[in-house]
Amino acid sequence: LPQSVVSPPATPVVDAAAFLAQAAQHIGARRVLTQPADTAAFQQDWRGRYQGQALAVLQPGNTAEVAAVVALCAAHGVAVVPQGGNTGLTGGAVALPGRPAVLLNLSRLNRIRTVDPANNTLTAEAGCVLATVREAAASAGRQFPLLLGSVGSCQVGGLVSTNAGGTGVLRYGNMRQLVLGLEVVLPDGQVWNGLRALRKDNAGYDLKQLFIGAEGTLGVITAAVLALHPPLRQSASAGVGLASVQAAVDLLRLLQDHLGERIEAFEILSRSQVHLVQTQVPGLCSPLAASHPYLLLVEVAAPDAGWDAGAALEAALGHALEAGLAEDAALATDLAKAQRLWDLRHHISEANKRAGFTVSNDTSVPVGRLPEFIAQVTAQLEGEVPGITVCHAGHIGDGNIHVIGVLAREVYATPEACEAAAAQVNRIVHEASVALGGSISAEHGIGLMHVARLERSKPALDLALMRQLKAAFDPAGVMNPGKIFRE
Ligand code: FAD
Repeated sequence: LPQSVVSPPATPVVDAAAFLAQAAQHIGARRVLTQPADTAAFQQDWRGRYQGQALAVLQPGNTAEVAAVVALCAAHGVAVVPQGGNTGLTGGAVALPGRPAVLLNLSRLNRIRTVDPANNTLTAEAGCVLATVREAAASAGRQFPLLLGSVGSCQVGGLVSTNAGGTGVLRYGNMRQLVLGLEVVLPDGQVWNGLRALRKDNAGYDLKQLFIGAEGTLGVITAAVLALHPPLRQSASAGVGLASVQAAVDLLRLLQDHLGERIEAFEILSRSQVHLVQTQVPGLCSPLAASHPYLLLVEVAAPDAGWDAGAALEAALGHALEAGLAEDAALATDLAKAQRLWDLRHHISEANKRAGFTVSNDTSVPVGRLPEFIAQVTAQLEGEVPGITVCHAGHIGDGNIHVIGVLAREVYATPEACEAAAAQVNRIVHEASVALGGSISAEHGIGLMHVARLERSKPALDLALMRQLKAAFDPAGVMNPGKIFRE
């Protein structure tokens, strides 16, 4: 298969003023933002690592307006960078310099179109914030189980496009398992209506799957049919002190034996990560002594009102303590205490951002290989990168661990020194994960950040097939150029 089948971008000569005037005819002049004061918040990624240079931020209000604007961009050779809540962690929603581009912000497509409790589905527009979707599901006596730290700002289109994961993947799967249908504006402006609400549909290729996790490189998602689940009426959470990652892996197995599918979340934080969250975010505190090398957070939950979640978790953890798997455990005795426990987990990204220059990785390996992986990368990072503090945190039940390197400010005084160290950290972590049969990106995607590394880690045939798909959907290469694939 050919190495590249995406047409190289012609260097379009765009009359920006004329182009933006036409865009304004489609969506209204006040929805075309060009002044730096209005666009600044959209042009930079959440981590503050990438500065975009879009001609304008466009804010269409419905699918027809998105289609009109995308068709206009295609006609003028202007690149389209879709954007939701701009909470992505790999620079995927930033417009690269060097090519005329617009940021297509979907936040105004924010209607819940329908909720169908009988079919256990909800149809939401791309700009609906995750918290709103969860509230709408709860109001209909159902639950939408996806949950991540950015719940108050990330949006349906971004969640679908990054195939987001979060803390509920162990039980419910990631976004791919929660999407039944999509509506997508294709790169030429056509609207593909794949908004089917079916759990069984084997009539040909499952096209929606191609857009899930495509990071806006194949089209603009405007709405999605999402799968709902029964509401949880009983739940309990606990913090567990562990001596090692192996203990966490063994504990998962023990809890699965006792509690089956009722494990709602199973997350780990290294002692260094707990320390960082506690020092960077006021008011957060671990319920256990700081001496345990790892803090494990576990939640169990079930829809049946008669089940005593607290007693079941306490009994299972009793077995773990007896077996020597756990050093200590603290059950959260009420919802407020459980919330405080989970706040530790959900403030990790924020704490690390505040801590200074942190290098965060989002790798996965098969669960049984996690102890080996963590031991290997920790020893290598501490041995080869001066002034680094290594933290681990993440969705250990899914084999997805974030290896985070915090670089001392006194050692890395310049941006260049930080970037060089970041490259070294990433290389060590990614090489180790691939060697153990893992992935360089478990849930955050490739974006701008990991393009070169994807080229090195994926087999040539995988890359060639991906490029062919990209070329089939977007032969002119207007959709989110430079993301996943090199420009
Ligand atoms: P954006 O950041 O706006 O965009 C992300 C990507 O999707 C970009 O490539 C963009 O071009 C594309 N895109 C956006 N909207 C559309 C659309 N309508 N059509 C086509 N393409 C589109 N992620 C996890 O998976 N698990 C976690 O546990 C997790 N925790 C997080 C915690 C915090 C505090 C933060 C800040 C982020 C976290 N993330 C996590 C990352 C992030 O929240 C997710 O990637 C989320 O899915 C991004 O949604 P968004 O609406 O902000 O998308």
